Amino acid sequence: MSAVRFKGSGAVILLLLWLASWSAVAESLLSDAQITHLKQKGKVTYCIDPNWLPFEALSEQGKHTGISAEYIRLLQRMLPVPLELYPTADWPASLQAAKDRHCDLLTLAMPTPSRLEYLIFTKAYLEVPNVVVTTKDKAFIRSVADIPISSPVGIRAGFGTLEFYQQRYPQLQLVPFHDYEQGLLQVQAGHLYGMLGNMGSISYSLQQNSITNLKIAGRLAEDTQLSLACRNDDPMLLEVFDRLLLQISPEQKQQINNHWLAIRYDQGFDYELFWQMLLAFVLLISVVSISYLKLKKLNLALVEANTRLEQLSQHDPLTGLYNRQYFEPRVQQALALCQRQQLPLTLAMMDLDHFKDINDTLGHSFGDQCLKDFAELCQSQFQRKDDLLVRYGGEEFILVSVGSDAETMQQLLEDFLQRLETHQVRLNHQQGHCTVSIGWYCDIPPATLDSRSLVELADQALYQAKDAGRNCAVRSEATVPTSPDY
Ligand code: GH3
Ligand code: MG
Ligand code: MG
Repeated sequence: MSAVRFKGSGAVILLLLWLASWSAVAESLLSDAQITHLKQKGKVTYCIDPNWLPFEALSEQGKHTGISAEYIRLLQRMLPVPLELYPTADWPASLQAAKDRHCDLLTLAMPTPSRLEYLIFTKAYLEVPNVVVTTKDKAFIRSVADIPISSPVGIRAGFGTLEFYQQRYPQLQLVPFHDYEQGLLQVQAGHLYGMLGNMGSISYSLQQNSITNLKIAGRLAEDTQLSLACRNDDPMLLEVFDRLLLQISPEQKQQINNHWLAIRYDQGFDYELFWQMLLAFVLLISVVSISYLKLKKLNLALVEANTRLEQLSQHDPLTGLYNRQYFEPRVQQALALCQRQQLPLTLAMMDLDHFKDINDTLGHSFGDQCLKDFAELCQSQFQRKDDLLVRYGGEEFILVSVGSDAETMQQLLEDFLQRLETHQVRLNHQQGHCTVSIGWYCDIPPATLDSRSLVELADQALYQAKDAGRNCAVRSEATVPTSPDY
């Protein structure tokens, strides 16, 4: 029982404290005359549009909700008398109630010439962009001028916006609707070009009615500017509310907007920007793809050209064997390998015999054919993976072979001499044969031997082969000094 009494007295204390802070706020903001005036009135009554979410509405329980309800709550904190809702059935009834002085205020209204006959307006405290909604096939709308003159456009009836657009754009065929949904359905059905209205209401209605096949085709330059409207026979009341509205900070306004409008704005999709970005994206992708394909083609051509160039730079065009340029680094590698791993290395210098005579008697082309046949025979005879065959000069060739001992090499070379001797070279009903003299080196090369000396050793042996009557192979027997001065 005592707990109940305590609770009861606690509530009274809180109420008194609130009243005290209430009047303290009012006193700091309002003049004595304004406070006296309000207290004489005893309360301030207001009307709203009972069906205009997200801006304002009456809930099923008859409670004021929406953006203006939040402003009313903030204003109430600063006012020394209660703000009392005068409920009405619809917006025209609210306007009528203001006209009949049943209410002192309209929470969200636009000044229009007809309203100024019985209302005065505070500075606008809420600005909402105006947009046009159309079916998705319609073009973008940048301004009212983009709306075809002969096409009917829906707009909410009884609103200041209607009066505003009628006056400013008399050429527009405006069709008033008592709610947004009706108008939007007419747009959907193709009976209207579009529906004009503020972004908040339009997107709210699109969302509430799950209308997804319409688009916000454009934002108009004119924003809807909403004020508190006061009965025009009470200018002091207007002063009070103008003063109180100034106390609401931009952060508080933002918070209210975020709560009621932000999500709706997000629904408002900027299709123009979307298509522009999509177009830019597609163009970019196309340019990148085309450039990539061109680059790929060029790269392929470059790789092919490089391969051809490499082939040309490394090979002899007549016989297809490697050329001398390629030979130099490779022989050094082979020599270094054999020196390091103590492997036998063979370098055979081969020079066709009396080749000048062949050219002279059978012609240069036949000579060429001899060179080609010789190269082919070489390739079929010396087939080990590491064997290197090179056209060293005119009718001079070199074989480099790693790992085979002298005995094996001798056998191979002698076989080759025989094969060549018995091989018939044929060209244009001409036939003949050629022989070759070979000077060759085969040994585990000492560390002191360099590639130039290696070739010289084989060359000296070749001279011996020529001297010995040609068509034979002579192995170099020169001993390589092991001193580094060699
Ligand atoms: P030897 O037995 O002493 O080597 O005598 P040879 O006639 O082979 O040597 P020589 O150096 O006197 O002549 C080489 C000839 O090879 C001269 C040159 O015209 C010919 N020759 C060099 N390159 C080519 C070529 O690509 N095609 C043709 N058909 N002949 C070539
Ligand atoms: Mg020669
Ligand atoms: Mg020769």
